[in-house]
Amino acid sequence: MFYINVMKKISLIDLHSHMGNILSPFPWVAEKILKQEIDLIKILNRYEEKKEKIIIVTNFYLVYPLENSYKNFIDQKRKIEKQIESINQNKKDSIKVIQSKNDLDDDFTIGIIWAIESCRWMKDYKVILPKVWQEGVRMLTPIHFLSNFIGATCNEPYVPYNQVKGKFLTTKGREFLRISSQMGFMLDLSHMHAETLNDAIDVIKDNLLFSHIGLADFVPFKRNVLLSTMKKISQKNSLIGLIAWKKLIKNEEIFFRNINHLVHHKLENHIGIGTDYGAPINTLRGLRDYSSIEETINGSNLDASLKSKIMADNAFEFIKKALPV
Ligand SMILES: [Zn+2]
Repeated sequence: MFYINVMKKISLIDLHSHMGNILSPFPWVAEKILKQEIDLIKILNRYEEKKEKIIIVTNFYLVYPLENSYKNFIDQKRKIEKQIESINQNKKDSIKVIQSKNDLDDDFTIGIIWAIESCRWMKDYKVILPKVWQEGVRMLTPIHFLSNFIGATCNEPYVPYNQVKGKFLTTKGREFLRISSQMGFMLDLSHMHAETLNDAIDVIKDNLLFSHIGLADFVPFKRNVLLSTMKKISQKNSLIGLIAWKKLIKNEEIFFRNINHLVHHKLENHIGIGTDYGAPINTLRGLRDYSSIEETINGSNLDASLKSKIMADNAFEFIKKALPV
């Protein structure tokens, strides 16, 4: 008798999701925290049914308060880990936290990569970065809505007090990026001011991305980035996670224009998806779960190999190269 171990296909990698594990003063957060377990089970059921895998880069988003941020991060993480543990008891290790290359080969249904959005609470980075790495975090978004000790935010119009003073990467920011990059963190340059970004790209050796973004060539929203900048990162192990948020992409036609433009400029191996699932945003198809982004891409007339690259293959290659052994 032959036993054939058929590896399940990874059908979607989401480079930026919140999954509800968010700490901030906004009212939608509490609801998300409560719904978090429901979200995980819903996603799990959906992919189990399809006999496919999904990998979700999920964020700890710690804006306030700055003091106690590390403790808040740990408290929140333990809470989620407990939920994962209880789901795994019933569902036989279906959820796997991915921290190394080998983890990618395991037989999970949901793979989770821990990430942190906004490092403004990590001023003591020489002490905090090793602790955060030890906790299994593998991706960092250094700057968010507020400028911080690293550099300047792109200054989106949501936070009235996000003052941009200096626009360049600070000396400390340079060291922060150098150390975190050497340690092996994937660095997400979303939300950076263009000047900070230009410096950052030069400092970071490898493994960098824009996890949730669109092309500024089509929609000149402050967070979007020009094709010329996207091209700059394509020399390194890098990825561009397109978001289906109406503010950054506007409509489905522009979403696909983003894809076609990147393909036309030979960036087809650098396109992925970052949904920002869990954030209070309006997406092209109302992103209630992952099915809408799959429908958007699978229902398009892109060719099959490109669909597969965008949905999972490119992100898989990026993550696999970036993760430690
Ligand atoms: Zn963000």
